[in-house]
Amino acid sequence: MQNKPKKFIDFIITQKCTYNCEYCSQSKLQTKIKNNADKKTVNAFFNLIKKLENDWEITITGGEAILHPDFYEIISEIKKLNFKINLITNLSFDIKIYEKIFKLLSDNLNRYDISFHLDEIENFNTTIEKLENFIKLKPKNTKTVFLIPIYKLDKIKEEKINTIINIAKKYNINYDFQHIHYFDKYKNLSLLDKNYIKNKKPKKTFSTLCSAGKNSLVIYEDGEAYRCYSSRFLKSNSLGNIKNKNFKLIDKAIPCTLKYCTCPKPRLYQQIQSTKKPINAYLYSIKNIFYLPYMIIKKREIIIAKLKQMIN
Ligand code: SF4
Ligand code: SF4
Repeated sequence: MQNKPKKFIDFIITQKCTYNCEYCSQSKLQTKIKNNADKKTVNAFFNLIKKLENDWEITITGGEAILHPDFYEIISEIKKLNFKINLITNLSFDIKIYEKIFKLLSDNLNRYDISFHLDEIENFNTTIEKLENFIKLKPKNTKTVFLIPIYKLDKIKEEKINTIINIAKKYNINYDFQHIHYFDKYKNLSLLDKNYIKNKKPKKTFSTLCSAGKNSLVIYEDGEAYRCYSSRFLKSNSLGNIKNKNFKLIDKAIPCTLKYCTCPKPRLYQQIQSTKKPINAYLYSIKNIFYLPYMIIKKREIIIAKLKQMIN
């Protein structure tokens, strides 16, 4: 029997980051824009979540969410509304910053995940020391998962990955390898990279019914809301801007319009159903064709950046 889908909102409150990863999956590189969510967008976000039951998990992310000038106010307000809060960090801040967050959120801090961007970490040994402190200081019930992007691995990076895995095992923490998905690059990966993600070939999901957009939402710093991270490149998947009074979540599962699903979270949170409806897939293909010219004009920066990534 399928588990009940878990509901979540990811709110990207800033595109600013302390790192500059070549493969940034949070769209910073794709949009060139490095803005913070302004007051109007943050207010619209609160108006939206106030209408939801508090079984929705709220993830505040970026970029590096801590860089948003109102980061502490935003997370405190979510706590007041009694939602579970998830955060994610690249661990580039002083441990005192993390301690402050732990104290502020305490039991409302459901998850605090750490992503390890090996090309960007300046001093790996210091980061590992900080990591151990982070684990010891975090609230007892706060889960953490180590996320390790797999990107152009070599022997030195492999050694670092082994160190991270050993820490994960020492503290009984889950870890996950992330495939940097850009189009169908799985077949072009090096053997070393493939060793780490051998079971994670991107799944073909076009026409599969998916309740992302009904039970989950990804909101960008400008208020544009999408069903999932992958769908942000197709206007037909946009649910509009949360600052628009008429904004609403979709009310039923609809077919996926993308060839591949590159979103781990909707899969983990049971948003994706197995049923495929060919007639719906056909209708959505037509819809996408009509949206394509609009998308090319509106999102041309994204498309240019994507094309550059394909060439590189
Ligand atoms: S740490 Fe994350 S958000 Fe920052 S540049 Fe790297 S992938 Fe992007
Ligand atoms: S199947 Fe994946 S890519 Fe498609 S809509 Fe759902 S979450 Fe997004």
